[in-house]
Amino acid sequence: MSREANCIFCKIIEGKIPCHLLYEDKQTLSFLDIGPLSRGHSLVIPKSHYATLETMPIELATACMETVTRVGAAVLGATGAEAWNVLQNNGPLAGQVVGHVHFHIIPRADSDGLGFRWPTGTLTDLGAKELTEAILAAL
Ligand code: 5GP
Ligand code: ZN
Repeated sequence: MSREANCIFCKIIEGKIPCHLLYEDKQTLSFLDIGPLSRGHSLVIPKSHYATLETMPIELATACMETVTRVGAAVLGATGAEAWNVLQNNGPLAGQVVGHVHFHIIPRADSDGLGFRWPTGTLTDLGAKELTEAILAAL
């Protein structure tokens, strides 16, 4: 397991910083977020230090998503929330503050006031073809 000395989530994994633990297995850990956006806001992290999702082994990302699904269902059951967002801020420009991959589980309610900005554009046929080709080449 790789760890980063100055990483707050690595310190949680090592028990150097306390957390409200929800779930743990060989590869992942889940605990309550210290600054919740809503009641039940939780985090899922891999036990190895990776800064961003695309640098992680696929198997570890899969293990994280299994834990997200498992804990998300429990958070939904415990809070009575009707919906939830899974959020993964990936890189500082995307709002990532803690540089250790983490998935947010955010329960949602009608009156939670969280909102959502989703200013859609339009996908043109030409742009879509070029883009698809570029991504396929990169896969
Ligand atoms: P990011 O903006 O990087 O996606 O989110 C980082 C999250 O980690 C924030 O929601 C923040 O509240 C949470 N967080 C930061 N430090 C701690 C901590 O020491 N303990 C816990 N439980 N959560 C933390
Ligand atoms: Zn870390």
